Amino acid sequence: VVEARQVVKLFNGVEILKGVDLRIESGEVVCLIGPSGSGKSTFLRCINHLEKIDGGSLQVFGEWIGYRQVGDKLHILKESEIVRKRARIGMVFQRFNLFAHMTALENVIEAPMQVKKIPRRQAIEEAKALLDRVGLSHRYDAYPSELSGGQQQRVAIARALAMKPEIMLFDEPTSALDPELVGEVLDVMRNLAQDGMTMVVVTHEMAFAREVCTKVAFMDNGAIIETGTPQSLFSAPAHARTRDFLNRVL
Ligand code: ATP
Ligand code: MG
Repeated sequence: VVEARQVVKLFNGVEILKGVDLRIESGEVVCLIGPSGSGKSTFLRCINHLEKIDGGSLQVFGEWIGYRQVGDKLHILKESEIVRKRARIGMVFQRFNLFAHMTALENVIEAPMQVKKIPRRQAIEEAKALLDRVGLSHRYDAYPSELSGGQQQRVAIARALAMKPEIMLFDEPTSALDPELVGEVLDVMRNLAQDGMTMVVVTHEMAFAREVCTKVAFMDNGAIIETGTPQSLFSAPAHARTRDFLNRVL
């Protein structure tokens, strides 16, 4: 469902992504690991076109997110069309980015009502089911400031799921959390993976990667150096740079 070929991204004329190749099939859970500054977040943001790429090709569900392809020409889409296409891709960030002036329930119904024009009553029904699913059935009416970091992140996951995405992107969803709150968020993600959701997870949680991911991709210096099953990549990395990284984090 994701096909990245030789993706290049520049910031201020500097190549940050230097030709990223990655294929993700439906139902795969891909963990993206690698040192700080290697381009993991940038690549994730390119997948849903929060960043424009400067070279290569990047298609999701067989099409470009930001463009319409006619022959070999790319025509830039209007922002409203991009928003509509992006609805198939859910994203959860390190910082929860909830709307502070809205309750948990209001946060979850916002996008389905605004973007998909779902009637309020239906949106509320679906939002309650999602909040139940992430273990927050008793906190529908809580404001973000009244919730723990782990609870806020679970609301953020429910909010992303409310758009019924076909793939979920997670950028270090637990790294801003107190250690005792990490587990409850990983549990929600593990359940999502078991339900068959296609996921890309940037994480430093190597135990999670080992246990939940179908594929691990190691990124270094703007490129994916090596991919493999967790078993093969963690126990027998092919590249010296992967070995060095794993020696530092495991
Ligand atoms: P971390 O593990 O610390 O989150 P990362 O692998 O996610 O790192 P990125 O955030 O993708 O790395 O950053 C890759 C490089 O791109 C870094 O050198 C960063 O400074 C640079 N960069 C990222 N975003 C921008 C931006 N908007 N403008 C300029 N440079 C940027
Ligand atoms: Mg990052």
